[in-house]
Amino acid sequence: MGEHRFYLSPERWASPSGIIIDGQEARHMTQALRLRVGDPVVLLDGRGRVGRCRIRQTDKKQVLLDLLEDAVTPRPSSLPVMALAFSKAVRRGFFAEKAAELGAHAVWLWQGDFSQGKLPPQAAETWRAQMIAGIKQSGNPWLPEVRTLTGGVDELTRLAAEADRRILPWELEETSAIIEPSLLGLPGVTVYAIGPEGGFSPRELAALDAAGFARVSLGARILRCETAATLCLGLHWWASQLPDHAA
Ligand code: SAH
Repeated sequence: MGEHRFYLSPERWASPSGIIIDGQEARHMTQALRLRVGDPVVLLDGRGRVGRCRIRQTDKKQVLLDLLEDAVTPRPSSLPVMALAFSKAVRRGFFAEKAAELGAHAVWLWQGDFSQGKLPPQAAETWRAQMIAGIKQSGNPWLPEVRTLTGGVDELTRLAAEADRRILPWELEETSAIIEPSLLGLPGVTVYAIGPEGGFSPRELAALDAAGFARVSLGARILRCETAATLCLGLHWWASQLPDHAA
């Protein structure tokens, strides 16, 4: 059995007398996992900090931990941002966990012209909770940032202007070349814009072209949006792990 990892938001770490865990996390520790005084646990703050702790005391509502060792993993140099259009897949939250496992820097949920339904106001909060589960499960010390872009493609292109690279996976361009390792895993911020199940509208394609998004193909088959997003992020992760990509 592996180590037990828990999430503790950054502002809750600073306490000279020990770290207090309460609420659902405390119940999970003592009731679901049956952890006891003296057991080791690992805390993640989602901002690179990893704390090795030991349980000093437990009661019905709280667990008190001693912090034994504290280390910070630097932010990775390659930062993929996945701009995923709202769709059924977004509602199911499939990609939230994958994003945390595969090291997305951020996920931007955006309202596409052909999105079915409106991006719910609580989407970012729901996704954050699922991503916290993802970092606990995978041990990734960096929690992806989640943003909801209700302003559609205009808000997306405005935010993407600050990135180092912009990639547009598009399934219909006969001439668009397959995505290449040379595009992937590079230092800095890369934004991938993924369309909803209904695809991009002509207006959105024009706006993304004007904003300098490079069209790429993911192969001769139309993938569901969450598959396309997972594939892009997986390829990016793979490339960033290659030894010669370190620079
Ligand atoms: N246009 C289609 C399907 C959209 S698929 C329709 O109208 O039903 C959802 C998104 O996944 C696309 O907008 C695109 O960003 C991405 N995608 C799916 N298959 C792809 C492929 N073979 N190459 C590149 N991108 C793809």
